[in-house]
Formats: sequence, structure tokens, C-alpha cells
Amino acid sequence: MSDTHRTTGRSPHQHQGTDPNARHPGKDGDDPNGPWEPGYVKLHRSGELKKRGEALWNRMSPCKLCPRSCGVDRADGETGFCHAPSDLVISSFHPHYGEEPPLVGRGGSGTVFFSHCGLRCVFCINHEISMGGEGAPATIEDLAKMMLRLQQRGCHNINVVTPSHYSPHIVLALDIAAEQGLRLPLVYNTCGWEQLEILRILDGIVDIYLADFKYWCGEMAAIYSSCVPPDPRFLESEAGARYSATDIYPDLTKMALLEMNRQVGVAHPADDGLIYRGLMVRHLVMPNNVGGSADILRWIAANLPKDTYVNIMSQYRPMYRAHEFPDIARRINRDEYQQAVDAAQDAGLVNLDVQGFRYF
Ligand code: SF4
Repeated sequence: MSDTHRTTGRSPHQHQGTDPNARHPGKDGDDPNGPWEPGYVKLHRSGELKKRGEALWNRMSPCKLCPRSCGVDRADGETGFCHAPSDLVISSFHPHYGEEPPLVGRGGSGTVFFSHCGLRCVFCINHEISMGGEGAPATIEDLAKMMLRLQQRGCHNINVVTPSHYSPHIVLALDIAAEQGLRLPLVYNTCGWEQLEILRILDGIVDIYLADFKYWCGEMAAIYSSCVPPDPRFLESEAGARYSATDIYPDLTKMALLEMNRQVGVAHPADDGLIYRGLMVRHLVMPNNVGGSADILRWIAANLPKDTYVNIMSQYRPMYRAHEFPDIARRINRDEYQQAVDAAQDAGLVNLDVQGFRYF
């Protein structure tokens, strides 16, 4: 979990409301004027959702739920790089008003923050949760109840934050909650560094992918987020041995974003201003161009639709161990942020979420 996971650093937004009759341009088939239904409901009805959850569960022993592919037997009590046990640990769940406006609306985004993380970003603002594992044990049934509670409170979506190491639990909880009436879109709020095989299992379950693209250069990803190649004994097909420390992060993240876009397409707001389906990309501008912002934004423009929703984030702060690394030991300046925005516009991206530069 990095600082892009916790919040976009926004103020609460109050300009949108939920309109159950709004047209939903991202709706998957059927009558575009009909009531919207998340993809996982159909899979629940057919029994497929539970099967997908079980398929993910089986990838926990040996664990291949993220590109680390640690190969530990989590069901037998072992823990890998992320330190996540097989049982859920949840830090908090609540309506969140700091996410992107089309996710927040009036009722907030219904966030569930999972403890532990498969990355180790040295600038993480939530390191007590991501690396320290702060949180409380919960069952899959508890998670289903949390989802339903967020719906009762008027949230517009279920936003699972740092979900990769708990994807089996999330899908199995969705299956329970769908049976009990959950009808909110599922937001998969991820660091973007995902295992392609896992994303394919999630096809049709996730309505909105909210994914980071942090680094253009794999060496930066290795230094600042410990993204290194997995143990070759536990590799699956695409996360193959051809990846070195210099390409394991950018290549897998690019493949993940392409797959996410294939599954859910462009994130366009419905008539009520909310997004119900699509890919939303976040890029955090870092000092001294550590993230490679212009290259990332040009790649997005060249390989994804030009109207892909891209949030260019300005709120980098040197938290946790960032002071040990001179290149990232300060906030960004106005010029650095503007250069990233200019690069996105020059590349032809037209659906930018530009926060403006702010001092925090
Ligand atoms: S870091 Fe990834 S592969 Fe390793 S135990 Fe955690 S989820 Fe599994």
C-alpha cells in the first residue's frame, strides 16, 4: 500500500447524487436504460462466482496471488513477502470522500482497507497497516457484512483497497453479500502490479479497476517498492523467467492495464455523474522524475484509448523511510507537476483528472 492507496488527497465532494434510473454508458450489455447491475451478480446467480473464489483460494497454497509468487502455503500457516496470513486482517471500512469524484458522489466510496501489502514502498504513508499489519482479524462472513453495511450507509461502490493478497476472500465474500442483496459496483483499488492469471479469474467480477502505474523504470520499482523477480520455482506462464529486475515492474503493469482495459473498457460517468464500470488509472508524480511520468503518460496514450481516465496525482510526501533516499526526500514542485500534465496533454490524453498543484 502506497500513498496512492489511502486517498487522492481530495476534499469531500458534494455535487453528485445517486440516480438509480441514470443511463450507464459502461453497462455490460442488456438495456442501457434498465437498472444497473454489477457483473458479479450474474456470476453469483450461475454459481460461477463461488467457483472463481475457490480457484483463487487454491492459488494461496502455494501462494501465487501476486507477482511475488512466494510459493508459501498460506493455508498451512506460512506467510510470504506480504506477511498476510490466510485469514483476513482488515484495517478499517467506511465511506471515503477523498477518492476520485465519480467514485465519491454524495454518499462516498465504500472503502475496505486490507492490512498487509505485496509492495514495500519506502514512502508509504500507511506503513503501519501495509507493513506493520495493523488491523483486526475478520472472517469472510464479516467482510460480506461490511460490504452490505456500506451499501446501507449510501455508499456508491465497494472499494477494496490493496486487495491482491486477499482476492479469494473478497470474491467469496461478494458471493455471500450478493445473495443478501449487494448491488454496488466493485472497485478493485490496486497498485497495478498484478498477476495476469489472477486478473483473468476476476474477469466479469470487477466493475471498476482503479490501478496505479507508478514507475516507468524497473530499477526505480526495485529500489523504492522492492519489485523484484519471483522465485522461478513458482512462476506461472506469463510471469515468466524472462523478467529481470529492470522489467518485472513495468512489463507486468503494462500487461495488467491492457487486460483491465480489455475487461471493463473506458470509465465514463453515467448521467448521475458516477462511474459504474471502467478502468481508472492513477499516476503519482514523484520528485526528480523517479516515476518517469512523461513516459508512462505517453505509453497510456499510445496503448489505451485516448479517453482513458487518468488521475495525475500531486500529493507525494516524503513519508516513512523516504528521507533515506535523497531523490525522493522532498515534495514535488509546481514545475514537476505541470510537466507531467503537459506530457499527458501533448500525448493526446483527453480524460485527465488534474488536481492542480497544492502544497500540503
Ligand atoms: S506477496 Fe504475493 S505471492 Fe507472496 S504470499 Fe503475499 S500475496 Fe502471496
